[in-house]
Amino acid sequence: MSGLESAEAQVVIVGASVAGSKTAQALRTAGYEGTIILVGADTDLPYDKPPLSKQVLSGAMTETENGLLSRETAAQAGIVLKLGAPAVGVDTAARVVTLADGETVPYTTLVVATGVRARPSPWGQPAGVHLLRTLDDARALRTDLLAGGRLVVIGGGFIGSEVSATASKLGMKVQIVDPVPVPMARILGDETGGVMSALHTRYGVETFFGTGVTDITVDEPNAAATGRPTLSVHLDSGEVLTADTVVVGIGTITNHEWLDGSGILVENGVVCDQFCRAVGNPDVYAVGDIARWLHTRHNALVRTEHWTTAVEQAQCVAHNVTHPDDPREFAPVEYVWSDQYEWKVQITGRTGALTQLTLADDSVPDRIAVLYSEDGTHYSGAMTVNWPKALMACRRAVGTGVTITELGETLTALLKKSSEKTAAAVRL
Ligand SMILES: Cc1cc2nc3c(=O)[nH]c(=O)nc-3n(C[C@H](O)[C@H](O)[C@H](O)COP(=O)(O)OP(=O)(O)OC[C@H]3O[C@@H](n4cnc5c(N)ncnc54)[C@H](O)[C@@H]3O)c2cc1C
Repeated sequence: MSGLESAEAQVVIVGASVAGSKTAQALRTAGYEGTIILVGADTDLPYDKPPLSKQVLSGAMTETENGLLSRETAAQAGIVLKLGAPAVGVDTAARVVTLADGETVPYTTLVVATGVRARPSPWGQPAGVHLLRTLDDARALRTDLLAGGRLVVIGGGFIGSEVSATASKLGMKVQIVDPVPVPMARILGDETGGVMSALHTRYGVETFFGTGVTDITVDEPNAAATGRPTLSVHLDSGEVLTADTVVVGIGTITNHEWLDGSGILVENGVVCDQFCRAVGNPDVYAVGDIARWLHTRHNALVRTEHWTTAVEQAQCVAHNVTHPDDPREFAPVEYVWSDQYEWKVQITGRTGALTQLTLADDSVPDRIAVLYSEDGTHYSGAMTVNWPKALMACRRAVGTGVTITELGETLTALLKKSSEKTAAAVRL
């Protein structure tokens, strides 16, 4: 139902991070005139997450700079904020969301934007052991990082790698552990994952890949002497790593429990059609990390945990809520970035353990592009390092049917143009 058609229209968005707050703002841009209520479990005003492992953690960005929606902006847009108010249930027949304090909030359209949370530490979480998902998590971790000492990071994915990079910049002795032999191999393949592993080593971070953690124990006597307990991270190799601070970055879990019993289908996220509408519940949409929608270009249900997808999907959902008779399909080209040490890593399209073509530029240190092909011939996605022009070309080329050899030639020409030098290495 459009706000233009009904004075009683009320969109309730549950989840007030990037997907939720961008949807609220985009609704106004799309012409929605009904009431917009943005419900969030967090007590902080909406903030962004990517800087929590990078600029906010290092101190290069203030919390205010990292804000997504101020009270003034929300008020000007007519967005009603209900923060510190987790939703605990939804009655899709009565079209009512129930909050933890018992308040009920009726809706004509519900937007689910509750994202994911950090997977808890299976080894407990004594003082000094951190997860990283929220601003509170980042504040607590930053306090411990500023106290200095030794950091053990468990998990060599995006979050673990970024925290390792930030902490080593802050002067900590950092060790990183992951049971996979090669970090990020699922996303980048073994060869490029090996390059990411070598990057840690280059910056003095000690790596323990192919090694699992069996336990984390606390040395209490040391706490009495220094005020900070020493932590021991026990590895399945028998080694024990001594740490002042430990970060556990071992993945995420969807925040879906409040939907239990509602009839909204949740299978690794809220299952949606190509318009991001929950299947079987046309008044309900999902957006951001919690959404698992039909991506028509892949003819598959897709769920990503990428900032850009959340922002683009918010625009699409806002349009579809406001113009239900003219809905748009959501079929984005995947894009995610990661900042690690001096590397800006950018990934687009479909990558992984696929055929690869690697290009490197001799004239600029650490400028790399890796092209991937799902069928061994046609280009499907790319990873670039410190090379925004190549990334743009690679992003545009997704889904065009170009071969990796042809795209490799285009990038080589780009290199020639920018540096008058040919690609230093081109190998299949
Ligand atoms: C440290 C960190 C670094 C990252 N870096 C990058 C990066 O470099 N590049 C990139 O592309 N992506 C990055 N990401 C991922 C990116 O931030 C996410 O894709 C994005 O935050 C997803 O937004 P979202 O709004 O869908 O979900 P979330 O950010 O998970 O927000 C969900 C919100 O819903 C709230 N909520 C949950 N349950 C309830 C409930 N029952 N009631 C009310 N509210 C509820 C939560 O409190 C939260 O505020 C990073 C993530 C983290 C944590």
